Amino acid sequence: MSSPDQHFSIDFIRAKVIADLESQKFGKRVHTRFPPEPNGHLHIGHAKSICLNFGIAREFGGLCNLRLDDTNPTKEHMEYVTSIQEDVRWLGFDWEDRLFYASDYFEQLFQYAVILIQKGKAYVDSLTAEEIRLYRGTLTEPGKESPHRNRTIEDNLALFARMRAGEFENGAHVLRAKIDMASPNINLRDPALYRIRHVTHFRTGEVWCVYPTYDFAHPLSDSLEDITHSLCTLEFEDHRPLYDWVLRECAVNCPSQQIEFARLNLGHTVMSKRKLHQLVEEGHVNGWSDPRLPTLKGLRRRGYTPEAIRNFCERVGVAKRDSVIEMALLEHAIREDLNRSAPRVMAVLRPLRVIIENYPAGQVEELDAINNPEDPSQGKRRIFLSREIFIEQEDFMEDPPKKFFRLSPGQEVRLRYAYLIRCVGVDKNPQTGEVMSLRCTYDPDTKSGGTQASRKVKGTLHWVSVSHAISAEVRVYESLLTPVNSGSGSDLQDFHMQLNPHSLTVLASCKVESGLRQAIPGSRFQFERQGYFCLDPDSTQNLLVFNRTVPLRDTWAKIGKE
Ligand code: ATP
Ligand code: MG
Repeated sequence: MSSPDQHFSIDFIRAKVIADLESQKFGKRVHTRFPPEPNGHLHIGHAKSICLNFGIAREFGGLCNLRLDDTNPTKEHMEYVTSIQEDVRWLGFDWEDRLFYASDYFEQLFQYAVILIQKGKAYVDSLTAEEIRLYRGTLTEPGKESPHRNRTIEDNLALFARMRAGEFENGAHVLRAKIDMASPNINLRDPALYRIRHVTHFRTGEVWCVYPTYDFAHPLSDSLEDITHSLCTLEFEDHRPLYDWVLRECAVNCPSQQIEFARLNLGHTVMSKRKLHQLVEEGHVNGWSDPRLPTLKGLRRRGYTPEAIRNFCERVGVAKRDSVIEMALLEHAIREDLNRSAPRVMAVLRPLRVIIENYPAGQVEELDAINNPEDPSQGKRRIFLSREIFIEQEDFMEDPPKKFFRLSPGQEVRLRYAYLIRCVGVDKNPQTGEVMSLRCTYDPDTKSGGTQASRKVKGTLHWVSVSHAISAEVRVYESLLTPVNSGSGSDLQDFHMQLNPHSLTVLASCKVESGLRQAIPGSRFQFERQGYFCLDPDSTQNLLVFNRTVPLRDTWAKIGKE
């Protein structure tokens, strides 16, 4: 297969892959990798990278590896490795038998470093970290060579072996590439290749006390896996000459090609792992799967589908310039998906009791309700009507403005799938004046199929029968960061000032239709007239818990205008 799926537009990366296939730069091969560091859970930004790497492999008949980039042992854990695998699978991608760890290459990487020393292309420096920083120079001034730069090859080999043997403290020495301290590209001013770090690695334990830097490990790991196109984010653009230098000097067989693309930034949230850790550890959210987080675990719990996330990533596309994508686009993607797939049900979030006075006490009617008007194959279900029902508090106003077409005294509305009712009385708390319940009458001829079925009224309300409804808690989410002062959370040094105090509202006394008793956690529904909701694993026998995935209509446009 040498042409991509028609479904995908040709971006600059795919264009490059096509050109490389034509010129046979890597023969007929396309081999990518997704290389997360197992130091946190994946977020929607990673999804973009996953969709890109696995997507390109799939479209061009190639392969994509999952590689855990575990060269920085201080923050890495097996827990994250497991979670990463789970999330990549959930998104719909498969690395088959190609799960790799950079730590599997530690011995080979060490031997490559030895080769560089032998070629006179690397040396052991014994300046302190601070001195190295000072010697590096600035964007406008060249760096200065370290006094240790011209150690003999023998001295370097001996010192590097002793570094490995654990003879030195952290920071006592560092292995550096010998490139050019005057290079206009600071990354080429003798970058560090190996550091001494006496820490336990979650896979290799105490075996190593020297660890390769990203700039050394990454190109070589790519090459050891025969990667053809190494896709990474823009901040590595200036590292590309170093990437190429490492592969050239180590004389690998098949030098892979690094290509950079703009990272995904989303408005009104935070995405850097450091900040996500902070949010979780400081208790601003309830763990990594909090539905307010842009983590894949959070989005999944919130009700996002893998399809919607993949569509979103495809729509965002890949570009060479950084930008901030509005949350509205992500929400559009899930609405579009759930509109097609989610069964409709009726749920009342803030219940107001309605007594239908002329409806016979004790009578129960079963009514047909359509599960999904977008998908007739989802069929119909039975719902129950009785003398007392709940409607939404906001669907009643005692003293309504002109265009209020819902219920008010004397006004008639249709109950979805049932009858027209008219409000004939309002019961209030004598002390507070609060509306406690409504008294209505119904017109028995107006049932669907009845003689007056077609009689038109302006408003249709959702409702549930009091004696049949089941109790539910609904968690309504707003953005994690306040909508004012928009912009990406990733630009903020300190997001605390912008945490939205209303990011979670718990509605504790909701009532939902009885059929939901059978629903299993993770099921998604449209609550008619309100939005999409997903059953949370916190649900119990006695209380269903729903997360609001997204309201039916875009609320961001309104926020933008304010
Ligand atoms: P963070 O800045 O959140 O810590 P990271 O880049 O350090 O992210 P890694 O685990 O190294 O996290 O990322 C694995 C892969 O995912 C890398 O190839 C990286 O370029 C890509 N990636 C990470 N964040 C984004 C993003 N926001 N958009 C696109 N790709 C991303
Ligand atoms: Mg990284």
